[in-house]
Amino acid sequence: MHLSGDRLLDDLVKLGEIGAREESGRTRLVLTPEDFEARRFLITRMKEARMQVRVDQVGNIIGRRGNSTKDDLPVLAFGSHIDTVPSAGTLDGCYGVLAGLEVIRTLNDERAETRHPLELISFSNEEGVRFPMMIGSKVASGIMDLETAYELRDNAGITYRQALEAGGLLEGALVAARRTPGEIGAWLELHIEQGPILESERLKIGVVESIVGLVHMLVTIQGRAGHAGTTPMNARRDPMLAAAQIILEVNKIGRELSRSSVGTVGLLNVQPGAMNVIPGKVEVGIDLRDTSGERIDQGMQKVRSAIDAVCKKLGLEYTTRERARLAPQPMSRKVMGSIELAARRLGASYKVMPSGAGHDTQNMARICETGMIFVPSKGGVSHAPDEWTDPTDLALGANVLLETLLELDRT
Ligand SMILES: [Zn+2]
Repeated sequence: MHLSGDRLLDDLVKLGEIGAREESGRTRLVLTPEDFEARRFLITRMKEARMQVRVDQVGNIIGRRGNSTKDDLPVLAFGSHIDTVPSAGTLDGCYGVLAGLEVIRTLNDERAETRHPLELISFSNEEGVRFPMMIGSKVASGIMDLETAYELRDNAGITYRQALEAGGLLEGALVAARRTPGEIGAWLELHIEQGPILESERLKIGVVESIVGLVHMLVTIQGRAGHAGTTPMNARRDPMLAAAQIILEVNKIGRELSRSSVGTVGLLNVQPGAMNVIPGKVEVGIDLRDTSGERIDQGMQKVRSAIDAVCKKLGLEYTTRERARLAPQPMSRKVMGSIELAARRLGASYKVMPSGAGHDTQNMARICETGMIFVPSKGGVSHAPDEWTDPTDLALGANVLLETLLELDRT
């Protein structure tokens, strides 16, 4: 069975036109008029492909294709998300959803039956720009309860529930968002890599082995503000100097901890923040990621000792606060094996690799076997209008998804 990429590419263009503005890509923040239009587009396409469509209590869109067997076999689910960051490209989550749609259409064309029911899921609010991220998959997997999700607010004070209501998504009989244990057998997410590794190694497919874990830590360094002109160099207590050394240390730890580790300082708050004033206080936001939770702990231990040494040397007080911690999420060996088999059958070069970005898959891993398939991203660019993957690679990735599903369906 083979999937042609033409309809998929056509759908990517059409969905990409929704919320598009000249020169600045497209913006479809969750539960805005643009997102509602994109949802209607997807639901129409699902119905055209003869799927039974339902929207659950948190706004996840689920298209179902029944199975041929009478047995109650668990669902094989796949998909991604269609909300975007501001000024996005056309691929990110849309690729995984529309490729899933094309998989269903191909099965229809071939009159192929599957033993397991298939469900294409478009999770609501993956990006976390307007509301905290991944609400749809968190509720579906039981990580977050529905009431908590409903009370989350955007910057304008609008709750998630109100935003759903505004789109008419809470009318009529509602479908439970939380999936029952055993209901879903496996979840597959096809996604662009959003990094440069596959392209630079001239490989076509990434078989994700683990979604990296992370720690976010905010360091507040207290010094003494002073006049930049009149305070002699040896009479200063300058927290910016400590921040500079901490930034270098985080970079070094990110480089040296392991092959998969990355360390970033992407946030700096300088007070009072004037060119002619020695800062009185500086906040440094640290992001450290790795595929091993143990190594993240080791890395953070190194970060903490570095902070302590630097601040002591400079005579500065400091506090640290952990803002977020996510455990690494390994993928299912069985699903990885099926993806590798599919890639080999299709003659696609591949590598087993981590995902440095978070995805709905990490939540689905709570309730079923999960796997992710990556395709190359040109220049590693994502979350930007010039996000691009060669159309041949997009079609190949969709075929790997199809082949993997067929393989999982046999077992
Ligand atoms: Zn995504």
